[in-house]
This record gives sequence, structure tokens and C-alpha cells, in this order.
Amino acid sequence: MTRAVLSIGSNMGDRLELLRGVVAGFGARIRAVSPVYTTAPWGGVDQDDFLNAVLVADDLDYDCHDWLRHGQRLEEAAGRERTVRWGARTLDVDIVSCAAPAGSGLRALHRTDPDLTLPHPQAHRRAFVLIPWLDVEPDASLEVDGTTRAVRDLLAELDPAERAGVRHTEFALVPATGTVS
Ligand code: ATP
Ligand code: CA
Ligand code: CA
Repeated sequence: MTRAVLSIGSNMGDRLELLRGVVAGFGARIRAVSPVYTTAPWGGVDQDDFLNAVLVADDLDYDCHDWLRHGQRLEEAAGRERTVRWGARTLDVDIVSCAAPAGSGLRALHRTDPDLTLPHPQAHRRAFVLIPWLDVEPDASLEVDGTTRAVRDLLAELDPAERAGVRHTEFALVPATGTVS
């Protein structure tokens, strides 16, 4: 059993429908869906704004790699082409964090494999990840340089311009209020 925090984004095509397709694609695994934010592009490549959201999902049979593989299948189905790093894309599905049972709770896993680095090495720097994540998990934490940090503190430490670049929208990925039970 694993539980994943997924950051999803699109800045090409019908961005909202592409993100809704991810929620549909993970189906009954989805536990929480954040609001949708519009975000200035990250990484210096000139391109259209993104729509971004965060999903929480779990599956009894998935390991952390299964989340990556499933996300990559959804990217391919969305016609994703890998050209410029951090460039425009129809769909990006990143695994922010992946946790497995440990003791009486869940523990986030740590991996340094380039194919699947956990937690995602850039997540703590990205307001477009941290802001929607806090919407669905206000007490979330993230390991940064070997130290477990509250996501709300990581967000507070970001450059105000980075936070201001992430703007709430009225778009919804699911009809209800955000939590799928
Ligand atoms: P970034 O990862 O900085 O957000 P990107 O999403 O544009 O950049 P991609 O081209 O989508 O990068 O992915 C490059 C590779 O990153 C993928 O082939 C994948 O195997 C690897 N990868 C490593 N860790 C992760 C992770 N936590 N989530 C998703 N992909 C990852
Ligand atoms: Ca990414
Ligand atoms: Ca990616």
C-alpha cells in the first residue's frame, strides 16, 4: 500500500480538461483534489501560464514506481512530447511524495534514484506545489535536506513573488468541494 501526493500541471491545449483527465485516470484511487491554480511558468522558458493542482491518492497494490508509471501513461495519453526541459507541456504528473505503512501510520519514502527521486527534489521551492498541497493537507510535511519540515513553513520561506505568481481560480476538477470519499 502506498499513498502519493501528485502535482499535476498543463500549459498547452485544453488545460482544464487535461487535468480533469488525470483525476479520471487515477479514478477510485483519488482521496483529495485541490483547487486549480494558474501559475506563471517556472524555470525561465517563455511559454503560456500553467494550470496546476495537487492530488492525494492511495492504492493497496501500488508501490511508488507504480504512481510514476501511471502518471507517465496519462502524460502519453495527453500527447506529451519531451522537448525543452521545463518547457511547455500538455500534461505533467510529478510524484511529490510517496508514503508507505510504518508502525501505526505512514512514512514518506526517501529515494535518490534519478528515475524516481523522492520526495521530488524541487517541490519545496515551488509555490505551485506547496499552495494546493496545503489546501488538501494543511498539516503536510516534507523532508528537505534530511530534515522534516512543515509545508506551511516552507511556503512562508519562499520569495513573496514566487507565492504571488500562484493564483487561485474558480475552476474545479471534481464537482464536489474537493474531497472524494
Ligand atoms: P521537474 O521534475 O523538475 O518538475 P519535469 O517535470 O519537466 O521537471 P520531466 O521531463 O517530466 O521533468 O521528467 C524527467 C524525469 O524525471 C522523468 O523521466 C522521471 O523518471 C524523473 N523523475 C524523477 N523523480 C521524479 C518524481 N518524483 N516525479 C516524477 N518524475 C520524476
Ligand atoms: Ca514537473
Ligand atoms: Ca515531470
